[in-house]
Amino acid sequence: MIGGRLRQVFHRFQGRLIEFDLAPYRKLLARIDAHGENIGKLADSRLQELSGELRARARAGTNLEELLVEAFALGREVSRRVLGMRHFDVQVYGGIALHQGKLVEMQTGEGKTLAAVLPAYLNALTGRGVHVLTFNDYLARRDAQWMGPVYQFLGLSVGLIQEGMTPRDRRQAYACDLTYATAKEAGFDYLRDHLCRNSDDLAHRPFHYAIVDEADSILIDEARIPLVIAGNTEEVIVDPYALAELVRRLRSGVDYDTDENARNAYLTDAGLDRAEKALGCHNLPENMLLLGQLYQALHAEVLLSRDVDYIVRQGKVEIVDEFTGRVVENRHWPHGLQAAVEAKEGLAIQAEGLIRGSITLIHFAQLYPKLAGMTATAQAAAEEFTQFYRLPVVVIPPNRPSIRGDAPDLVFVTKEAKRRALVEEITTVRATGRPILVGTTSVAESEELAAALGRKGVTCQILNAKNDELEAEIVAQAGAPRAVTISTNMAGRGTDIRLGGQAGQYHDEVAALGGLYVIGTNRHESRRVDDQLRGRAARQGDPGSSRFFVSLQDDLFQRFGIDESLARDTDARAADRPLDSPEVTAEIAHVQRVIEGQNLEIRKTLWKYSYVVDHQRQVIHARRQNLLTGQASRSLLRERAPERYQQLLLQFGPAVLDKVERQLTLYHIDRCWSEHLDYVAHIRDGIHLMTPADRSPLDTFHVTVGRAFRDLLTSTDDAIVETFFAVEVTADGIDMEKAGLKGPSSTWTYLINDHPFGDWFQRFYKTLTHSGELIRSLKRALTDQSSGA
Ligand code: ADP
Ligand code: MG
Repeated sequence: MIGGRLRQVFHRFQGRLIEFDLAPYRKLLARIDAHGENIGKLADSRLQELSGELRARARAGTNLEELLVEAFALGREVSRRVLGMRHFDVQVYGGIALHQGKLVEMQTGEGKTLAAVLPAYLNALTGRGVHVLTFNDYLARRDAQWMGPVYQFLGLSVGLIQEGMTPRDRRQAYACDLTYATAKEAGFDYLRDHLCRNSDDLAHRPFHYAIVDEADSILIDEARIPLVIAGNTEEVIVDPYALAELVRRLRSGVDYDTDENARNAYLTDAGLDRAEKALGCHNLPENMLLLGQLYQALHAEVLLSRDVDYIVRQGKVEIVDEFTGRVVENRHWPHGLQAAVEAKEGLAIQAEGLIRGSITLIHFAQLYPKLAGMTATAQAAAEEFTQFYRLPVVVIPPNRPSIRGDAPDLVFVTKEAKRRALVEEITTVRATGRPILVGTTSVAESEELAAALGRKGVTCQILNAKNDELEAEIVAQAGAPRAVTISTNMAGRGTDIRLGGQAGQYHDEVAALGGLYVIGTNRHESRRVDDQLRGRAARQGDPGSSRFFVSLQDDLFQRFGIDESLARDTDARAADRPLDSPEVTAEIAHVQRVIEGQNLEIRKTLWKYSYVVDHQRQVIHARRQNLLTGQASRSLLRERAPERYQQLLLQFGPAVLDKVERQLTLYHIDRCWSEHLDYVAHIRDGIHLMTPADRSPLDTFHVTVGRAFRDLLTSTDDAIVETFFAVEVTADGIDMEKAGLKGPSSTWTYLINDHPFGDWFQRFYKTLTHSGELIRSLKRALTDQSSGA
């Protein structure tokens, strides 16, 4: 057996850092325990005094390492008194690692919410604000309410951010010692702050420390999704309904082709001809704007399916998240694609607006000087956590050893056979009374399965995640006797499934039956998502088991052309029995790794695209922030328009001139930055068309965007000076409205589903050499099967 130290070295050797060695944590725990005994018998009021003293020391600049033992012991004792939960040792380990800015892996149901209280408390003692960033609004609310009393007992204030809150309430919540919010809301507030014209309106204080819950989902899966703030504008666009009608009549394989992954579609020459005729345009390839829109329409028609990629509700297109299977509020597709889908469905086109600011979660998270994260599935993503966030991964063992049984996958040839087997399995197991949680990949699949079960007289709860809170309630009941719950992927993530129902009243009965049975109906692109699902079973030492049902017709394998090669084998197709071949199972796991590798490459490439622009954003934001907080070191107006400056200075004094400089600079920075973002988006979307054959698109992008940014800086300065000469200055500064220099009268925020069907550069990664091997081993297995049968 490899010892912890050695294992760590081994992982370091492999080029990544996963910590298993808990010895340093144990030493600290011993001291925390000892201190805990000292304070365990003290009166409540005395504990509160101690907390006040700690706070005073932290604010006086005492190093937090020196306060850790006392603060953790105090936090633990108060949690016991106030919540009736005393941190298990492993939760203390987790807390220490979080304080040290690490990415902590703790299994589902181990109590990460409570573990985070200790480092959150310790760091909040400084008064500099700690953010706990949660997976959704419901969890922010739940955790703030649940853990709030501990902090309050200790004399610290707790704030909560929810979607739709007023700016005033947000400011108040961020002014608290601790703030629970989703990463998205915190990010949107950051973007709003960067459109503020007045420092009193800023929501955020300078960032200090954030603990990210469900960190793999937020920091990896959602990391590349840009948060966007947009302002109103009138834009003229080509009639999207006409384009939707046009592409509807195009024929697959004649007018357009799709690639093997169905992640891209392109017009053939015949298709181009047809489109040109229909649009009365003679040289479509040169009309980039129109061609771009035509492609959006084509993609909307061919690549995005209703009820899989999106649903239509109350006259609006709502996007379904591919990872969670959930409908996501406030998410748009980029650049005209949203409008194209709305046109395809014959809905009213929602205004798009002009993007005023944007940041991806990956760059947002990096704004915190100190960052930590926690999740049940970190190991598989360790490379990314270290590379992008410099967060080492620490694996904390469960409080009680897990006794979950993970059965090997059952692999079927056809989807149909898989479904029959699923229905059979669920019906049989349910008859025993054992609760079952089924994880699917799409809303449609959930509904099909539920219908099939219904015909067998099995009723089930379906979660399509339209309402986090309601969903959480249903998921919480998934451990009750005879419960069958079908849920898309990670719906209800963060909700505790107690064995024997929410109150645990049938715990022993259900445990005797084997505990919760988790069934996956598909292998996901990412092992992490599969592991999350499995982790729903057997929490905190309970019994439980999991199994995946897989078919070779599942989307994951179709992409590799596997289905095609098997189509010739009609005998095997009819087979209802699962394939019994370890080779096939191993190959399936291999496919998953290959796809994970591809996705990682894509994220890396995207990062290479986004970091330049992010750097530019930092330059702009720093200049803005200095102006807002009155820390600007030089005056552009004094330098570039000395005469007028001096004259006005004599007339109105320095305060008015500072205000004028601020008004003009903020206005022009915001305007120019917005134009820049728009330009960058166009460049990025079209970079593969613009790049000469001998150059890499990434280089071309960097050069083009770098040049554009230098131009932006000059033209902003020029515009500021020019306006300074043109406007009227009074003792109140400039009347911006009168001068026609108003910003957008309204703004709104949303998420962009960046490149919903993979990116153009995905093409570079999709040549897969190993699929031949998979097909060969499948063929062997099928031959064995038919000769054996
Ligand atoms: P996670 O986020 O790790 O999946 P939660 O924070 O949702 O887990 O907690 C899971 C359950 O464990 C909750 O019902 C909570 O009440 C319980 N729990 C956590 N820590 C303790 C503890 N120290 N003592 C008793 N119960 C605990
Ligand atoms: Mg949790």
